[in-house]
Amino acid sequence: MDTTNLSNVTNAELEAADRIGKEAGVRFDDCYQCGKCSAGCPMAHAMDYVPRQVIRLLQLGIVDEALNAKSPWICAHCMVCSARCPQGVDITATMLSVRREAKRRGLRPDKEADIFDDIFIGNVRSFGKSNEAILAAKYNLLSGHLMQDMLNAPKMAARGMIGPKIHSVKDKEAVKKLVDKALSKGGEQK
Ligand code: SF4
Ligand code: SF4
Repeated sequence: MDTTNLSNVTNAELEAADRIGKEAGVRFDDCYQCGKCSAGCPMAHAMDYVPRQVIRLLQLGIVDEALNAKSPWICAHCMVCSARCPQGVDITATMLSVRREAKRRGLRPDKEADIFDDIFIGNVRSFGKSNEAILAAKYNLLSGHLMQDMLNAPKMAARGMIGPKIHSVKDKEAVKKLVDKALSKGGEQK
């Protein structure tokens, strides 16, 4: 994290930090920066700010930096950080809350992760489960990586992961309602 002049932190950023914390059910002041979250995070190596640093940015009200970070989009929501935190800080919920705030502002620090997310959620809303063939086809098309993972297609077909038949769960509507409820609770755009 570069040196930041805290006098540049705006009221709007402080208000946004408050909103992100409330939405996640987290008080950022509870964090004493021990780093246990970052030490256990399986995605920390790929992040621009490790989980401890994301919480620090929000503690200090440096929200614009957090909203433009890739870390919340790289987060796999495995919840290891939240389980390890001795202060009960729900870092996983914070990462999701930062993503929602970024989306509300039209920010896409990691465009590909955002594309993948939207397709995945759309898939689950439509079929009650993820459909690998649709997921891969739409992602490759929208991300511009047209040939990505194409070499895996024969193996996936052999294992029945992709094929001409679109699989769905019995009660698609129930799953759709659950997804919509979860999304509206978090204020996420569909
Ligand atoms: S584990 Fe908890 S207290 Fe420690 S740095 Fe992470 S959020 Fe802060
Ligand atoms: S939930 Fe996200 S930030 Fe937390 S340990 Fe898992 S990948 Fe890392």
